[in-house]
Amino acid sequence: MHKPIKYAEKGLTLAADAGFRVFDFLNRFNQRPSFTPAWADKPLLKSHEKVKPPLGWPRETDSLCPKCVREARQEILDGKRDYKILLNEKVGEIKATIIERDGKIMMVKDCPVHGHFEDVMAIDTAFFKHLEESFPGSDMRAHNDEKLHNPGSSTIKYGRGSVLTIDLTNRCNMMCDPCFMDANQVGFVHELGWDDIKTLLDNAISIKPKRQMSVQFSGGEPTISPYFLDAVRYARKVGYNSVQAATNGIEFAKSADFAQAAADAGLRYAYLQFDGIGNAANSHRLVGNLFDVKLRAIENLHNAGVDIVPVITILNGINNEQVGRVVQFALDNPKKINFLSFQPVSFTGRDEEITDERRHAQRYTLSHLAHDVKDQTGIGEPVRDWFPISFMGTFTDSADYVHGPQADWGQLNCGCHPNCGVGMAVMID
Ligand code: SF4
Repeated sequence: MHKPIKYAEKGLTLAADAGFRVFDFLNRFNQRPSFTPAWADKPLLKSHEKVKPPLGWPRETDSLCPKCVREARQEILDGKRDYKILLNEKVGEIKATIIERDGKIMMVKDCPVHGHFEDVMAIDTAFFKHLEESFPGSDMRAHNDEKLHNPGSSTIKYGRGSVLTIDLTNRCNMMCDPCFMDANQVGFVHELGWDDIKTLLDNAISIKPKRQMSVQFSGGEPTISPYFLDAVRYARKVGYNSVQAATNGIEFAKSADFAQAAADAGLRYAYLQFDGIGNAANSHRLVGNLFDVKLRAIENLHNAGVDIVPVITILNGINNEQVGRVVQFALDNPKKINFLSFQPVSFTGRDEEITDERRHAQRYTLSHLAHDVKDQTGIGEPVRDWFPISFMGTFTDSADYVHGPQADWGQLNCGCHPNCGVGMAVMID
């Protein structure tokens, strides 16, 4: 038996929902056209003009054969095939089917050469459905991008992406496993020169819609690039306001002066590798006092005025029991930790060749995360409090209307697929 107030709340919720549906229906008639902002050549979209990809299940989707992709890449590196096949042919592409089996959402696919593959996409079908139903639709079509958005069949069609990742170097001052870049071990150094960095940033501004993006300098370890500070400074100079470094934090821990120099150059966020609480939870990266290093980096960055986002790569059965402790760490340090970024492991780079058994055992999906947060902290209902990252577009659209046609930049809009990422905001008082 619920308290009477719960029935009143439920009634209010239903009434608000019905009221909004009526408003939404009536609002379709006699709409005034949207304005075309200075940062695009097309008008802002009305919500009913936004497109959505096919959603739900069972459904067929485009996918890749992991073995065909690796073989094609090796042939290109060995000079046996021209890289342009990536533009003109559907290298490694196969069809996949998304199905429900045993209460889970699965992706299954068959390659005519390499056989059958399958993987778990979600362990909670209601959660998966909720995310897809919350997808607000894509941004306007990308334009003025013919020379840049041309990577064959994976060309970006809508919006402009929300994160520009620039790998400054493949060198690193660590040697982790996992490492999605296989830093230090590929047998060659790949490092961008100043002209490369400048060209990437200049080209990125030419794409329309000219929306804000997170510019993330990554690697390897970006702070050991000789151009790290210049790159941060130039990104801010051309107008990007969310400039980040995806870092293991070692250089910032070693030197408060370096943290201050990065802040002075315009570094806004440190996207800080962070696997759990305590040195033991970080020991698989083979640095004995790595958690102490993280704490020192957080101190120096915070004192310099850089916002800190711990980034937790989660492997099922390895560190997923740390989810609750990391959330608690953030709640205990609200002035230093701005938000958390949990990243279910991606078996690429150094982990590309793992066995099927290990991949199935360590696979960690967004639905695993939502349930671990609830189970370990008591915070958040998976089907109520979690939303696809693209849901933020609803607020972005409002801000674009408020800023008006003369605004120089559009707001950041992540139109990524609802199967791609989730967010939950926790209010801290
Ligand atoms: S710190 Fe990052 S880039 Fe460096 S080895 Fe570890 S995972 Fe790879």
